[in-house]
Amino acid sequence: MRVLVIGSGAREHALCVALSSDPAVTALACAPGNAGTRALAEPLAVDVTDPVSVAAVANGWGAELVVIGPEVPLVAGAADAVREAGIACFGPSAQAAQLEGSKSFAKHVMAAAGVPTARSWPVGGVAELETALDEVAALTGGAPYVVKDDGLAAGKGVLVTPDRSAALAHGRAVLGAGHAVLVEEYLDGPEVSLFALTDGRTVVPLLPAQDAKRRDDGDAGPNTGGMGAYAPLPWAPAGLVDEVLATVLQPTVDEMARRGEPFCGLLYAGLALTSRGVRVVEFNARFGDPETQVVLPLLETPLAGLLHAAATGALDAVPPLRWRDGAAVTVVVAAPGYPSSPRTGEPLTVPPGEGYLHAGTAESPDGGVLSAGGRVLAVTAVGPDLAAARATAYERVAGVRLAGAHWRTDIGLAAVQGAIRP
Ligand code: AMP
Repeated sequence: MRVLVIGSGAREHALCVALSSDPAVTALACAPGNAGTRALAEPLAVDVTDPVSVAAVANGWGAELVVIGPEVPLVAGAADAVREAGIACFGPSAQAAQLEGSKSFAKHVMAAAGVPTARSWPVGGVAELETALDEVAALTGGAPYVVKDDGLAAGKGVLVTPDRSAALAHGRAVLGAGHAVLVEEYLDGPEVSLFALTDGRTVVPLLPAQDAKRRDDGDAGPNTGGMGAYAPLPWAPAGLVDEVLATVLQPTVDEMARRGEPFCGLLYAGLALTSRGVRVVEFNARFGDPETQVVLPLLETPLAGLLHAAATGALDAVPPLRWRDGAAVTVVVAAPGYPSSPRTGEPLTVPPGEGYLHAGTAESPDGGVLSAGGRVLAVTAVGPDLAAARATAYERVAGVRLAGAHWRTDIGLAAVQGAIRP
């Protein structure tokens, strides 16, 4: 099978690693890819924001399966264009990707499907924003305010704050940029990312993972695209995956099918295990980054066959997934200034050996590697348990050279210490 991956981050590098070890894959390309994917996958130029460009690249290269990594091409309609070209595609239609592209659309679907989530107030102007903040404060009795950009914001559109004036300022800024705002009830409790493959009917959950959204140790600092992740979750309640399948994933997939917009691809449920039960924080319409970097290394079942089955309506015929024992940890090495204003174009030294997934990198004219994004590397390790995987991941991080780089030192630490209680 000739497989084309669309995207250029560490998620796509992790997909390329997993796909390249599947004997069913006869050729692998990554468009546009990065300095790391080049070792595994033929680099192809593409404009990921343009569905016509994505379909043309897939056609020109003779792809038999296209796997779309990021949300931007999905929301733009890349999967529709690829399927119209007669090529199997792992990724939802533009309409189905609205589960991620519009938080208010996701709320409508969840309401119709009876999926538990935070109460929310859609806001179109400043007066409504003030009223919504007052209502949510009265209802939750002093819990932090949650103010969200309704559209795509690379994980950075959400402000969670006890400070009403900061909440108001964030909402005003989002409205000022011409986007709708959602004010939400605050959800307490640990967060879980659960991915599921779906062909629009059958839903196959993967392993739960947890990512670290804030920039600094101890969950301090601003929200980012994700600073690290680990899987599986030693603290997760027994039966969590089955419960989320029954109460969140399957009802959502069924509701999308009922609407005539079947969701085919990866449905990512961001969950909070609150004192009142499991609640959906958000849906994403694609593999999460950085959780993919820890889920895929633990998957023993060959990936290409699974993604092809999801793309072609054949997931019901797939045998139960096989998982490797042990745990995986990934630590994101970020550029100085990330997330607000990352400095790029700096020389980067990546030691030889496994585990160095490239996120934002490019080849320099002299054949070296340069930083080319806010998140530069996702340094990953698998070990017999979480503590061992953490130790190896941080040994690997110590070998990276990038001026001013920063990373969290506590990825997976609270889980190792037994300090997370749902
Ligand atoms: P989102 O873009 O919706 O995924 O939100 C990004 C992050 O903001 C989430 O992973 C949570 O850490 C936090 N967050 C979002 N919504 C809520 C909420 N209702 N209550 C508490 N935290 C939230």
